[in-house]
Parts: sequence; C-alpha cells; structure tokens
Amino acid sequence: MNPFPVILSSPSGGGKTTIAMKLLEARDDVGYSVSCTTRAPREGEREGRDYYFRSREDFEQGRQRGEFAESAEVHGQLYGTLRSEVERVISEGRHVVMDIDVQGAKQFMTAFPHSVLIFILPPSAEVMIGRLKARGSEDNKSLVRRLKSAKEELKAVDFYQYVIVNDRIEAAVSAVSSIVEAEEYRRTRVGGLSSRLADLMGGVERAIDHHSKGQ
Ligand code: 5GP
Repeated sequence: MNPFPVILSSPSGGGKTTIAMKLLEARDDVGYSVSCTTRAPREGEREGRDYYFRSREDFEQGRQRGEFAESAEVHGQLYGTLRSEVERVISEGRHVVMDIDVQGAKQFMTAFPHSVLIFILPPSAEVMIGRLKARGSEDNKSLVRRLKSAKEELKAVDFYQYVIVNDRIEAAVSAVSSIVEAEEYRRTRVGGLSSRLADLMGGVERAIDHHSKGQ
C-alpha cells in the first residue's frame, strides 16, 4: 500500500476534529499529524496529542528552519504541519490524516499533490454556531472572528475533491473511511502497475502466438 495524506477542512464547528479522532479509532491504517500552534491549550487538550503548543517565537524559528510543510495564520494564531509528523506517519505505512484550514490545504497540495482533499460541511449555520458555543472557549469576540473566517472557508469548497455534510457523526466517519478505501485503488496509486501490465500483456501475447499456430 502507498500511504497518502488525507486533508480534512471545514469551518470551525464543522466537526472535522471529531471525525479525524473517530477515524483513527476505527482504522489502524491511518495516523494523525499533530499540528503546531501558538494558541493556548483548551481544557482537556494535551501537548503532543492535540497540538504541539509553541510560543510565537519558537514557531517563527521553526518556520525559518523549514520545519513546516505548510503554515498559516488562523483566527489570529499560527498553525502549521510539521514535515516530521507527516514523515513519521507515512514511514509507519499509514495514511496521514490532517485537520488543517483552507490556506494550509492549498500550500500543502503544492508540496504533496497526491493528497486527498475532503471538505466537511456542518448541516446548518445553527448547528455550527451551537458547536462553537458548546466548546465554552469562545467569548463573543473570538466567536465573531471564527464566524467571519467560516464565511471565507466556505468559499473555498470548490478546491476540494470530496464534500461530506456532517449531520450524523458516524455516517460522516464512515464516508471518510470509504473515500480512503476508494483512493487506495486510484490508478496512479496502484503499486507496480506497469510491470503487472507488462507481465499480463506478455502472457496474452504468448497465448495468441500459441493458439494461432494451429489455425
Ligand atoms: P482550533 O483552534 O479550533 O483547534 O483550530 C482552528 C483552525 O485551525 C481549524 O480550522 C483547524 O483546521 C486549523 N488548523 C489546525 N491545525 C492546523 C495546521 O497545522 N495548519 C493549518 N493551516 N491549519 C490548522
């Protein structure tokens, strides 16, 4: 199997992080790329599991050292995907799932153009806003900021190959899982295809020769 990156994007409150976590529980052939961020940890979040929490200075230095496959400013904070995270998961032979924003996805595609791009849509604005409020971490100012960037993110849906409406989490996880499975059979990912075809072709030609002799 040729492991590939799977990018999940959605506006905040779209449910992509939950989907990514449930996909990891459901499949052992996928791993998660833990991002770096300058934002403060929310309650219950753990260093190295949810994010690598960095100061702005550390983040900027990492950027200059070329440690990021992509990085972007989202809601006034820096977020980035470490090359080492992508390489770690791929070298374990697993597909690497990433929960990144639209700007990050666009950058990442220039470095890893064989990535799979999935956009998760919340079923309605009400549900999305409700999910954001339920986090309890959103004061009015940051809620408005997230809603404004949600508007921008929604405009980028055309860049994505797949769209899933997340009205039932289990169905959304199973849709992502089906996409991963189908993508394994994409012609360009099938390992050893040209030598397999050459072998088949050789066998067919020999059979044609053999069976033509008696005619
Ligand atoms: P949150 O602060 O709610 O965890 O994430 C805010 C936004 O940052 C989400 O849209 C999320 O997808 C995005 N994000 C998380 N990690 C990364 C990353 O490594 N790179 C980029 N570009 N965006 C990220």
